[in-house]
Amino acid sequence: RMKAVQPGDLPYVEAVEEKAETEWDDNVGYFVKKKLPVWCRLPSGQWESGTVQSTTGEEALVLLSDGSVVKVSTGEILPANPDVLVGVDDLIQLSYLNEPSVVHNLQYRYSHDIIYSKAGPLLIAVNPFKDVPIYGNDFVTAYSQKVKDSPHVYAIADIAYDEMMRDEVNQSIIISGEIGAGKTETAKIAMQYLAALGGGSDGIENELTQTSCILEAFGNAKTSRNNNSSRFGKSIELHFSTFGKICGAKIQTFLLEKQSRVVKLADGERSYHIFYQLCAGAPSILKDKLNIKMASEYHYLNQSNCLAIDDVDDARKFHVLMGALDIVQICKEDQEHAFSMLAAVLWLGNISFQVVDSENHVEVVANEAVTCAARLIGCSAQELMLSLSTNKVKAGNGDAAKKLTLQQAIDARDVMAKFIYASLFDWIVVQINKSLEVGKRPTGRSISILDMYGFGTFQKNSFEQLCINYANERLQQHFNRHLLKLEQEEYELDGIDWKRVDFEDNHECLDLFEKKPLGLLSLLDEESNAPMATDMSFANKLKQHLVGNPCYKGENGGAFSIRHYAGEVLYDTSGFLEKNRDPLHSDSIQLLSSCSCKLPQLFASNLLDHSQKQASPLSLGAFDSQKQSVGTKFKDQLFKLMQQLENTSPHFIHCIKPNDKQLPGMYEKDLVLEQLRCCGVLEVVRISRSGYPTRMTHQEFARRYGFLLPKDNEYQDPLSISVSVLQQFNILPDLYQVGYTKLYFRTGQIDELEDMRKQVL
Ligand code: ADP
Ligand code: MG
Repeated sequence: RMKAVQPGDLPYVEAVEEKAETEWDDNVGYFVKKKLPVWCRLPSGQWESGTVQSTTGEEALVLLSDGSVVKVSTGEILPANPDVLVGVDDLIQLSYLNEPSVVHNLQYRYSHDIIYSKAGPLLIAVNPFKDVPIYGNDFVTAYSQKVKDSPHVYAIADIAYDEMMRDEVNQSIIISGEIGAGKTETAKIAMQYLAALGGGSDGIENELTQTSCILEAFGNAKTSRNNNSSRFGKSIELHFSTFGKICGAKIQTFLLEKQSRVVKLADGERSYHIFYQLCAGAPSILKDKLNIKMASEYHYLNQSNCLAIDDVDDARKFHVLMGALDIVQICKEDQEHAFSMLAAVLWLGNISFQVVDSENHVEVVANEAVTCAARLIGCSAQELMLSLSTNKVKAGNGDAAKKLTLQQAIDARDVMAKFIYASLFDWIVVQINKSLEVGKRPTGRSISILDMYGFGTFQKNSFEQLCINYANERLQQHFNRHLLKLEQEEYELDGIDWKRVDFEDNHECLDLFEKKPLGLLSLLDEESNAPMATDMSFANKLKQHLVGNPCYKGENGGAFSIRHYAGEVLYDTSGFLEKNRDPLHSDSIQLLSSCSCKLPQLFASNLLDHSQKQASPLSLGAFDSQKQSVGTKFKDQLFKLMQQLENTSPHFIHCIKPNDKQLPGMYEKDLVLEQLRCCGVLEVVRISRSGYPTRMTHQEFARRYGFLLPKDNEYQDPLSISVSVLQQFNILPDLYQVGYTKLYFRTGQIDELEDMRKQVL
């Protein structure tokens, strides 16, 4: 007779009927059956709460909360939680874990300005898009003194800090979520807490705050979804002394977006903040020296009908930035070097070409843009013009210059601009790290805060999205493994018979990417190095070699789909090879390395150093692929990161965006549900619950339910009594486990026993 009501376990109506309790009804004057709450899916797809009135066969009449009655198929009904459970701190406490219940629980909390909830081991943060008064010194104190323990980023950071100090184990706080969900803010909040706890006298926590400002200026931009969107992934590793004081930090960045940011902008979006800040706020001496005009005069900035952001004063931000650069000890001279690289990028974008023959070959138009760009990088205008419009080719006895076509020349120019910007960003990070590195780093006392891009799918998904989703597969695997490991450790210690929990394992998808020599990334590199290859031939290669992998599906044209853990994504291969090669014209490298300015030289030599370390032979094509491909570089970086994370005790935070409009007080259920599905939140709760969430010692159990047994069983030991109870009430063996010290139950089992107990009492 015992049966577990599992989410989605239908017909639920039957269970409702069985469980329905009676209650006194004043209207009718006698006891009537009380109807239990349900979620019912209306034809619109929306879940509404209500109570089942009656059922006939496969259909039920449901009274909705607005007073109307609808007839729905019983397949469209899910159990709802009793009112006492609505708004619980931890989703795991819900009796019924189904999508509408979870979405409703978060909504209930959100409407009361409670933006944080737990989902088992994971913290969920729903973006308030307004200031919520739950931060600052008083709250830091409350959490650090354990006066408060409600779900909060502070609570997570506090646990990490305590664990680090107690066990001397490195910690990590892994933050994920879609664009605009609040990852970067959450990372800042965590850092703020740790800086408050670990602040010393040397002011390193001030430096840390300043680094956020610098990284934001150079790595954030306005997108259509977030006015201050970070366009790179980052991890900040905080190091602590034996006394728990911060004694150093290291920043690592991943995959700065540059393909579609520095040289090309979507309507309504902006390039990196720093460009607008420089144009608006540079002191006039600097402006004159670098020949800086208004943002509207630069092609790279004026193509998207968006030069300013509401309520943001770029000029003021520039002054704050200069202060921050001073604080992290980047000297004035280096600051100026950096600014001149920015100006060079802007002037490069204004360089134009003139077609000179019927084959569309071009020459550079000799104007202010060329002279400025050349002066800023430290070469002659002539050299720059030649490098952007011709390509050296090996001819019989020596080199010859071959003219480029218009498109090739534009590409060469844009590639150089992107290269300079990306190199500058990396250089800034190196400088920041130099200033944050304090003394010798102790081992075993660090907390890494990881703010990565979240899994995402757009109408058109290209190479960047592929890399991001691949990284999320890796992080998800880390997450699953860690979660199961912890669960299993307890079960094994207590000696219970524990088989691996059945959950979505994503190793097939990881294989799809990483397998050698025939994984997606290897195939991409192979094609990227093949002289005649095209995006189409790459797509065909995938079809040929990946067809056996269940996560891969070849599509028409150059497209393919991948079944990610969070859903299927369609990728379009156009541009893949080029983006993976990210080639710098070999003449451009030569030009930059011969420049008289410090940074271009440095950037070029870093690149050459790297390519010399590579074993792969250099191919001499129109565009040399002299460096590690973008995909491989990203994979290597990701592997290093995973290795680091593997040596930490992780804490997870998922950020959720309740609406796309960046508005407070607006909770769109469908959007939230979509993200819960994508981040695998439901999966996580399901995994944590697919174990044995209810635990009771033999003594507790025997005391509570022993009396249900016939009299002669009374004098046995707790374990025997417990086992007898389980047998007496026919609880199926796969619904519980007996450990050395405790009994373990599947979700819902204790409810059933409790019902039994109530009936007898
Ligand atoms: P992401 O890094 O995930 O793209 P951000 O961290 O930049 O998102 O957050 C986007 C915006 O949401 C922020 O600019 C801020 O306005 C708002 N926001 C995020 N988290 C909070 C929070 N805890 N409190 C108040 N506003 C927040
Ligand atoms: Mg961000």
